[in-house]
Amino acid sequence: MSKKQQALTLEEANLQKIVSHAKEYGFVFPSSEIYDGLQAVYDYGQNGVELKNNLKQLWWKAMTQLHENVVGLDAAIFMHPTTWKASGHVDSFNDPLIDNKDSKKRYRVDHLIEGKAEEYRQAGEEAKAQALLDKMNELLNREDFEGLRNLIIEENIVCPVSGTANWTEVRQFNLMFATKAGAVAEDSMTIYLRPETAQGIFVNFLNVQKTGRGTSMKIPFGIAQIGKAFRNEIVARQFIFRMREFEQMEMQFFVRPGEEMQWYEYWKQKRYDFLRAIGLPENKLRFHEHEKLAHYANAALDIEYEFPFGFKELEGIHSRTDFDLRNHEQYSKKKLRYFDDEIKQSYIPYVIETSIGADRLFLAVLSNAYTEDIGVDAKGNEKKRIYLKFHPAIAPVKAAVFPLVRKDGLPEKAREVFNLLRYDFNTIYEERGAIGKNYTRQDMIGTPFCITVDYQTMEDNTVTLRHRDTTEQERVAIAELPRIIGEAVSFRSILTQLQ
Ligand code: ATP
Repeated sequence: MSKKQQALTLEEANLQKIVSHAKEYGFVFPSSEIYDGLQAVYDYGQNGVELKNNLKQLWWKAMTQLHENVVGLDAAIFMHPTTWKASGHVDSFNDPLIDNKDSKKRYRVDHLIEGKAEEYRQAGEEAKAQALLDKMNELLNREDFEGLRNLIIEENIVCPVSGTANWTEVRQFNLMFATKAGAVAEDSMTIYLRPETAQGIFVNFLNVQKTGRGTSMKIPFGIAQIGKAFRNEIVARQFIFRMREFEQMEMQFFVRPGEEMQWYEYWKQKRYDFLRAIGLPENKLRFHEHEKLAHYANAALDIEYEFPFGFKELEGIHSRTDFDLRNHEQYSKKKLRYFDDEIKQSYIPYVIETSIGADRLFLAVLSNAYTEDIGVDAKGNEKKRIYLKFHPAIAPVKAAVFPLVRKDGLPEKAREVFNLLRYDFNTIYEERGAIGKNYTRQDMIGTPFCITVDYQTMEDNTVTLRHRDTTEQERVAIAELPRIIGEAVSFRSILTQLQ
């Protein structure tokens, strides 16, 4: 096996562990699995939905509750089709693709060429790799499709399935899903499933600005939104990293022209702090400043996370100038301006955008939490232990309560404890199975606290509280449980780090 193949196999194995664990423990299932699934579409299971909701709520609070000048919005998925003309998605939200005539497989041109560059890199030919990427970028910028095809042939890039270089022409493929609105064919209108949530914010800019939180909003201010987005991704790989239906958490921050760079720096830091506060480690996060900027941006960076398959984009921070509002003004013929009292000027605000995929954040958090340790079993033997080391505030289940035996009033007592906790925390009660097995199952879904009711509980109202990460057990009074658990799982412990 070549070095590259070995590396890939290791990465694939790492990802496979996460994928299997996610399925086996109710986090993520392939969509419509009984029909063999639908490519790049996934469902969140009973534990996944709790984890994802926690992440979304934390993001929401960090944005809207901690910033006096950021408010929320929930715009519809369908929008007037002209929105996507104005945003540029109809004309340029494309990927150049090429098909192999022998295998009938379709590839993204940039992925094929990047793969070749990576091969050069693995072979220590850094300069050659860079030259190839530069050439590709130049051709992509010029939309020179024949040039791209020639480059693939010159570089002797073959289809990984058929092994041949029998390629079709390069064609553009729009990533938006289209559908029809209206029952009668003649009256129906082509509308799109939004490929990003941001445009719902831009078109509502004035609605929100004028109404504000009681009084109108003053610049600088932001609008935050969480919602589904849809992209007909051609190369669907890497589990929930690249999906056709996914969820975005986006915030557009409107500023005075000329002040955008200071806000860009501000949000870069805020977003990094957020990712650190929910438990992603420093050594797995890095910034990647874009050298090649989109035509509408004057600064852009990705916050990358080291996924099981390497460092990849988790979140984008973009300084989008007045591109979006200006285009909507032009297409809608409605003024989208702001009168700035302080400088007595009317202008189209500039925008700083922060955009993170809820699913990518979920994958980052899940793969970071997945821990394999050597533990010691009841007989003192070493054995492998797997657990999900979530920050308690984002763990799907906060506490699990077990009676030691199913008799002598212990189940009733354990239910009392369960009832004490369930109104504040997502708690589960389980009376079947051995305690050790129950602990293991809770480790697998990352429950930070396990509580066992035993005979001593009947005498002195204390229970055993077991901590997930250390497996240490302590004796605590039942009355103390709400405080101990409450402090550990409170969003406060995360949000106060962001001030
Ligand atoms: P990529 O280069 O990986 O395709 P992008 O640069 O197109 O991503 P943006 O358009 O900036 O992504 O979208 C903002 C965020 O939305 C991304 O940082 C990512 O977290 C998320 N995202 C984008 N596309 C997908 C997808 N197909 N599946 C899951 N999340 C996605």
